[in-house]
Amino acid sequence: MSSSSSPRRALLIGAGIGGLTLAIALARRGVTVEVIDISPSRAVAGWGLSLTGPSLRALDALALADECLAAGYGITAISNCDSNGEVRNVIPLPPLLGPNRPSQIGLSRPALYDILREAALAAGVVIHYDRTIDGLHDNGDTVRATLSDGSEHVADIVVGADGVHSRVRSLLGIPSGARYIGQMVWRALVPRPSWATSLHTFAGTGSNAGLVPIADDRAYVFLTENRADPTPIPENTLADGMRELLAPFSGRVAEVRELITDSAVVVRRPVHVVMIEGPWHRGRTVIIGDAAHAPSPQLVSGAALAIEDGVLLAEELTAAADVEKALSAFTQRRLERCRLVVESSIHIADLGRTGRHAEADAVQQRCHRAMAAPA
Ligand SMILES: Cc1cc2nc3c(=O)[nH]c(=O)nc-3n(C[C@H](O)[C@H](O)[C@H](O)COP(=O)(O)OP(=O)(O)OC[C@H]3O[C@@H](n4cnc5c(N)ncnc54)[C@H](O)[C@@H]3O)c2cc1C
Repeated sequence: MSSSSSPRRALLIGAGIGGLTLAIALARRGVTVEVIDISPSRAVAGWGLSLTGPSLRALDALALADECLAAGYGITAISNCDSNGEVRNVIPLPPLLGPNRPSQIGLSRPALYDILREAALAAGVVIHYDRTIDGLHDNGDTVRATLSDGSEHVADIVVGADGVHSRVRSLLGIPSGARYIGQMVWRALVPRPSWATSLHTFAGTGSNAGLVPIADDRAYVFLTENRADPTPIPENTLADGMRELLAPFSGRVAEVRELITDSAVVVRRPVHVVMIEGPWHRGRTVIIGDAAHAPSPQLVSGAALAIEDGVLLAEELTAAADVEKALSAFTQRRLERCRLVVESSIHIADLGRTGRHAEADAVQQRCHRAMAAPA
C-alpha cells in the first residue's frame, strides 16, 4: 500500500461476493487479510446469477472478468416479452468491456464463488468458515474483534460484508432498515431451450418471470411472487409451487414451466431491501455490499454494487492519508450510485406488481445507463 497509515491487517466478516472481492483487492496490495463466514462451507446455493456490465468491468479491474466470461453464458440484450413469450421490445446492453466481449453474463453462483475463492487463496487470504463475530472494540489505532470460537483478533480495519441481515451493522449500532417488500423471488435451474440466447423477461399479471442462459446446456428461470407470505414452504414442494405460479403464462413460458421438475434446484427467497444513508463506518469498521445497500433482485445489480465496493474500498484505502478518511471518502463516492440502484429496484418492483411493465422497462433502462458510467 502506498500510504504509511494504510491498514496492514484486515479482518473481513462474510466470504460472499463483496467480501471475497475486497479480500482479493487488499491482499494483492500487500495487506494481510483474514475472512470469516458463519456458513459451515462455501456460502453458495445451486442457482444462477446475472452479472451485468458494471460487475464485469469491476472484475476486469482484478483481471477476473475473462475467467467469469469463460464459466458463464454471454448476453448482449434483454428481450422483454408478454405472458405468452411474444417479444415486446429488445434492449441492447452497453458493451462495457468493448465490442469483443459480451455485455453481461449468466453463470452459476457456485462458479462465481469458486473463481473468487481461488483468487483470494492464491493472493494469500486466509478464510475460516463456521465462525462469526461477537464483539468489536475500537481503540483508535486498531480494532479488537471477539469471534464466536472465543478467539480475539486485532486488525487495523474490520469490514462487515455479511449481507442484508448484517451482524457487524448491528454491532456498530447502525439501524438496519432492512425491509421486506412483500415479494418472494424464485429461481430454478433448467436445461437451456435452444431459443434462449438472451435474457428473456415475461410480464405476467400477478407475477413476473424470466429466463437467463448460464451455459450451453443450462439456464435459470426466475419468478417474482407478489403479496407473498415469507414463511418458508417445504423444500420438496418447491418445484410444484413454482410451476403453479407459472400456470397463467403460456407459449414459451409454458414450455419452460414443464422443465421445472426437481425441487433440489429451486430456491425461494424473501426480498429484503436496505439503504443505509450517512456514513457506513464507525471508527475503523465499515459495512459494504448488501449490508449497506441491498436492492431488490429485479435490476440484477446487487452483485455489481458489492463487487464495485470491494474494488473501490481497496483503492480508497491506498489513496487516503488515514483509514477513517478513506472510509468517509468511500461512503461519499458510493452513496448516490447505490441509492439510485436501490430506489430504482423498489420502483420497478412496485410497477411490476401493478402491471405497469412499460414504465418498469423505462426505469430499468435509465438505471442501467447510469450504472454504465464509471463508478
Ligand atoms: C434470490 C436472489 C437472486 C439474486 N440474483 C442476483 C443476480 O442475478 N444478479 C445480481 O447482481 N444480484 C443478485 N442478487 C443480489 C446479490 O446476490 C447480492 O446483492 C450480493 O450477493 C451481495 O453481496 P454481499 O457480499 O454483500 O452479500 P452476500 O453475497 O450475501 O454474502 C454475505 C456473506 O456473509 C455471510 N454472513 C452472513 N451473516 C454472517 C455473520 N453473522 N457472520 C459471518 N458471516 C456472515 C454469509 O454466509 C455470506 O457468505 C440476488 C439476490 C437474491 C436473494
